[in-house]
Amino acid sequence: MDGFSYKQGVLHAEEVNLDSLAEQLGTPLFVYSLSTLASHLQTMRDAFFLIDPLICFSVKSCSNVSILRFLVEHGAGLDVVSGGEIYRALLAGARPETIVFAGVGKSAEEVRYALEAGIYQFNVESEKELARIDAIAGQCGSRASVSIRINPDVADRDTPQKTSTGGCQTKFGIPVTRSARLFAEGLYSNVDVVGIHAHIGSPIHDSASYLACIDVIEALLDEVEQAGGTVDTINIGGGFPAIYEASHFDSISLQKMGSVISHRLQGLKARGLRFVIEPGRSISANAGVLLTHVEYIKDGWDRQIVIVDAGMNIILRPTLYGAQHAMWPIRYGRFNGHWTHATNASQPRPNGALSPVDVVGPICETGDFLALSRPLPTLSEQDTLAIFSAGAYAMSMASQYNSKVRPAEVVVMGEHYQVVRQRECYEDLVAREMDGIEPIKSDAKNLKLVK
Ligand SMILES: *Cc1c(COP(=O)(O)O)cnc(C)c1O
Repeated sequence: MDGFSYKQGVLHAEEVNLDSLAEQLGTPLFVYSLSTLASHLQTMRDAFFLIDPLICFSVKSCSNVSILRFLVEHGAGLDVVSGGEIYRALLAGARPETIVFAGVGKSAEEVRYALEAGIYQFNVESEKELARIDAIAGQCGSRASVSIRINPDVADRDTPQKTSTGGCQTKFGIPVTRSARLFAEGLYSNVDVVGIHAHIGSPIHDSASYLACIDVIEALLDEVEQAGGTVDTINIGGGFPAIYEASHFDSISLQKMGSVISHRLQGLKARGLRFVIEPGRSISANAGVLLTHVEYIKDGWDRQIVIVDAGMNIILRPTLYGAQHAMWPIRYGRFNGHWTHATNASQPRPNGALSPVDVVGPICETGDFLALSRPLPTLSEQDTLAIFSAGAYAMSMASQYNSKVRPAEVVVMGEHYQVVRQRECYEDLVAREMDGIEPIKSDAKNLKLVK
């Protein structure tokens, strides 16, 4: 259930008419369906019920505090990758013992912050990081619980290079060949190395890649236990897929994937292990759409160029990853019967003629596009497009490049909505450059000396 559907020719999020909402709140606008978020979280729970994992939602996929709070209230833990995300997680009311912390470059400050917050586990990505955590935990008089993020040297064939993290050439994790000895007793004074973590990339469409990774995890587990060490946590990361293209619609079954993986892990559960998964996009991507208004349509050389008010500053995935987001006008009733009733937003079914157009943003970069040569119905400057599957890695990656303000975010439930992030204003763009900043004199005589 994705919560977005066309009713009487107009796209709705649950029962909320998105044409009216866009009119009222302006565009670009992110709209999230709360029912969809809750149902996707439940889908993950159902899919993995055999191993009853702690489900830590990946904060970087969709970081809005209100949305995090909603997921936390529905039982999610959180997977964070920075001090800022810990801050968001705590604001959202996550219990510290449900927070796991990954990332190759945890700063001393971030480590201290995580220790003070009392998070469940660090997913450690290097021997140097282990030493740093050990030292800082010593200073703070606390103990750190650690999973070793292994680099298992398995790469998913279909995962884009930019988001594949499990191959031996990536910066992520500790080569599994060097991992077993880190579990040895007495190596660290303030750190308990008790878990094995792997996150091999996103999105991963093939359970076989997880199974290959679990083989590596199990071999390591055996090696550690034979050497007298203990492991209490197995964390298999995230990367479970979302539906981006119509072709995914029938091929993706989280239920099936979770069941295959859980069956494989069930044997390990008998050994008293606790499991963690870190889904991001599989919960959030299809729970959000981006509404963007058509500003201009101009003729290009070969095809029309549709210029919309959201660019790579707001949704970077098309140009960064070559992602193909489904998109469709939010009103198609007025296309004079050219369009049949699209019952599912992810799989619109036009029966009229489509022409390929380039959908581009206002940013001064050639790479600023949402789709190139995309077959779409004839659009006009009265149209608003919905960019689907925009609930993950869209707003959380948005920037102010070209001094564009970041858009508002709104959540809906049933026929109700609530703004959960205000649209920025010009003052927001410059606040950190103005507040408490002394203007530079023309002779630059008021610059300071380093102490
Ligand atoms: C990004 C990330 C995830 C989530 O990936 P999805 O594809 O959104 O599920 C999980 N774990 C780690 C360590 C990550 O970096």
